[in-house]
Amino acid sequence: MKRLAWLVPVAVAAWLLPYGLDGYAIHVADVAVIFAILAVGLGLTMGVAGQINLAQVAFFGVGAYAVAILTTQAGFGFWAAAALALLIAMVFGILVGIPALRMQSHYLGIVTLGLALAFTNWVTNADIAGRAEGISDIPVPPLFGVDLSSGYLFYYVELVVFALALAFALLVTRSPLGRRLRAMRDDDLAAGALGAQIPLLRMTAFVLSGLYGGVAGVLYAGLIRFVAPESFNIANMFLLLAMVIIGGRSSILGCVVGAVALTLLREALLDASGYAQLGYGLVVVLVVVFAPRGLAGLPGQLRLLLRRRRGDGSRAQLGAFLPYEPAPSDAGGNALEVRAVTKRFTGLTALDGVSLTVPAGQIRGIVGPNGSGKTTLFNVISGFYTPTQGSVLLRGQDLTGAAPYRLSLCGVARTFQNLRLFEDLSVRENILVGLDRTPTSWIWRYPSLPWKVLGYERTLRARAGELIERFGLADVADADPRSLPYGIQRRIELARAMAMSPSLLLLDEPAAGLNGEEVRQLGEIVRSIRDSGVTVVIIEHNMGLVMSLCEQVTVLSSGRVIADGRPAEVAVHPDVVAAYLGDSMSTPSEAAVEEASR
Ligand code: ADP
Ligand code: MG
Repeated sequence: MKRLAWLVPVAVAAWLLPYGLDGYAIHVADVAVIFAILAVGLGLTMGVAGQINLAQVAFFGVGAYAVAILTTQAGFGFWAAAALALLIAMVFGILVGIPALRMQSHYLGIVTLGLALAFTNWVTNADIAGRAEGISDIPVPPLFGVDLSSGYLFYYVELVVFALALAFALLVTRSPLGRRLRAMRDDDLAAGALGAQIPLLRMTAFVLSGLYGGVAGVLYAGLIRFVAPESFNIANMFLLLAMVIIGGRSSILGCVVGAVALTLLREALLDASGYAQLGYGLVVVLVVVFAPRGLAGLPGQLRLLLRRRRGDGSRAQLGAFLPYEPAPSDAGGNALEVRAVTKRFTGLTALDGVSLTVPAGQIRGIVGPNGSGKTTLFNVISGFYTPTQGSVLLRGQDLTGAAPYRLSLCGVARTFQNLRLFEDLSVRENILVGLDRTPTSWIWRYPSLPWKVLGYERTLRARAGELIERFGLADVADADPRSLPYGIQRRIELARAMAMSPSLLLLDEPAAGLNGEEVRQLGEIVRSIRDSGVTVVIIEHNMGLVMSLCEQVTVLSSGRVIADGRPAEVAVHPDVVAAYLGDSMSTPSEAAVEEASR
């Protein structure tokens, strides 16, 4: 909160601003505030949640037209019409967001652009929307006798609305929801495995977009009291996009700066508007190429550059792991049961009737040549794939085909063969994503109980601090994961999985790329995790580690279980030896077998 102290003088300046402005200038300021609200909404959807939304200007139009139609043709008062307009804009947000459930990135951009064009087309042709002439005579919003037809007084109404809109956006971005949205933007698969309900989060992003667009539209209708199609056309969409990209799409304050700057620039260049369009285009391209995070991202980019030059990241040190308190294994029974699971991809059977049972508190190894279906098995257990046949039970509960976020909330945590850290989040934030165990239905608390959200965030931060200490990550807690050596990234992914307080931990080749000492530490960490009461299933090629760590090993080959038993027995099983001879991977070394059988 202290970091926001500078907002106070800015707010005072904004409050005093009208005293220095003439009638025209205050009108420009009024328009700038409206664009700032639009830009904040677009920043939330596009920058924070990563949903390319080119329909923001249509949400703006829906809000403004809804007020215009309801007040002039349905006899509603201004504020009743405004409330309905916000609802309509949010519903429109949901409609435009539906395609996001099936497609992402530029495809989504094209579809949302199409929907925005459809909107302009409709208002240009529909009688109810006044066709090309638009709708005039929208009433002046009444406000306890204050005359809001004055641009000066309207400015203060806008300022209050803007402050609320900004505060809400900052609350969202600086809280668990915003972090989940950013995690989803970075890597939706990993975010799902960490408990984020992706479809609902995407819809949330579009509803927020609709809400901010609607708010801006209502203010516009109250300010200008006239709506016409050209105010909501594609040129304005691109101006809005330019504001967000130049300001810095993932920074809400950057979006505000971009909006104010470009509104002023547009006024200054009014006589040369053709060249101005060209100019915006050029600046946007330059920003995208040289400062992808916009003006707001420049300080961070410079810091990163300096740090890289000094080589801080690669000198980072892992601290010692502080073992967990051992917990007496209470449960008994089976942590995981895979029953006759078959998974077919077109033309390929990756898993063929695989069954395995992992008792609670065990460390189970899964080995097998490359392509034998080990990762596919994890993908089935963690909900990424629905098995073609068979079922998966967790502590006796059938959860076959449940979505990853549900399994995550039921206690399944996993790591990935090819690390999937959220690269735009710091190490601490990666861990915070794992710590957040709230269901998505918690979203309603953001508007209704914001202080609870902030309290929860504080608890999470305290727990993140403890976990960072435990995993020896204090040195790198605020670093960008990309800048760190591979061994540290693997440790972070393990810490992030443990942040979920799982009962079943799935590790997919956690020793890949680690040096000897790091592998030894990994063995210690996994043992401590098990001793704390977590069941561990580990896919691993490092036979020394498998032999010394696992109580039982399951061998897969071409999607089938070919052996299952104690490590020393399995290693000499004739089918296993045969399967491994056909693969470039090394067979278990004799020394390792000997060590394990002792
Ligand atoms: P492992 O982890 O044991 O090396 P995988 O489970 O990754 O093996 O892969 C098993 C087989 O399934 C491979 O032949 C792989 O190409 C195939 N496979 C895995 N995922 C898919 C997918 N999404 N679509 C098609 N084939 C897949
Ligand atoms: Mg694999």
